Amino acid sequence: MAPIKLGKITVHKVHEMDSPVPLLSQLPGTTSEDLRRLMRWYDQPDEITADPESALMTFSVHSWVIEVDGLTILIDTCCGNHKNRALPEVHQLDTRYLENLRAAGFAPEDIDLVMCTHLHFDHIGWNTRLENGRWVPTFPQARYLFSRRDFEYFRDNPEGEALHNEAFLDSIVPVMEAGQGEIVDADIAIHREIGNGVWLEPAYGHSPGCCTVHAQHGGAPGIFWGDVIHHPVQLIRHDLPFAFDTDAPAASRTRKAVMEHVADTDTICFPAHFRRSSAGQVKRDGDAFRYEFLSD
Ligand SMILES: [Zn+2]
Repeated sequence: MAPIKLGKITVHKVHEMDSPVPLLSQLPGTTSEDLRRLMRWYDQPDEITADPESALMTFSVHSWVIEVDGLTILIDTCCGNHKNRALPEVHQLDTRYLENLRAAGFAPEDIDLVMCTHLHFDHIGWNTRLENGRWVPTFPQARYLFSRRDFEYFRDNPEGEALHNEAFLDSIVPVMEAGQGEIVDADIAIHREIGNGVWLEPAYGHSPGCCTVHAQHGGAPGIFWGDVIHHPVQLIRHDLPFAFDTDAPAASRTRKAVMEHVADTDTICFPAHFRRSSAGQVKRDGDAFRYEFLSD
């Protein structure tokens, strides 16, 4: 899709893969009524039907690249190639992600800063690539920022998080060993030092340290949601727990607060897993919200 201009900021989407899975396996509380309401504004007949049992949820896995003030910032680095994963859908992938990055206009050495909204396997994978049997940073000139809460949580391999610890070992540790990683505190509301008008905000719940990234420079604000929300049906039901939330009630509160903050404003939202253009705007819709996608 064409780059999106927000004043002096340009945003590019870099696609890795689409992964369809049964909707109820990810959002088990979804009802037929929710889906009928969703179908009024989300037209994806290959995915969404009014029957939750047969509806699919298609994860788009993609990165966002921000250009601002001569800096090139990569937000979230997808799953990565050649990685051993306990989840069959992402085990030993061989996608055209780096070609897609080049098609958007960027070589790996062009990236100045890598920002992972959280440290789940589908947001950190391309931090590293395989070279002569070793994992090395994919982006040789970049500083990589990791939130302290997620870093310490996944490093300690907590129960039930083996998939993410596996990713930590091959996608975070080699970056730290190369001296390119930086642990940042997102407990402070705003970090301005990341770059001119690009900052982090805590968005805890889905993971212990997940953040949103904000960007604004002479135009409409942009917010990069990470996994604050996974699917458009959660605009209708912000309380729907996602199967892989660490703290589902906290994730739900965060989701509602983020929606309230951006609804009916000029903010452009950049979700991590919506399909099509993915980018769009939140509108109030009675007691809930709806989403207006930017054109593809
Ligand atoms: Zn994700």
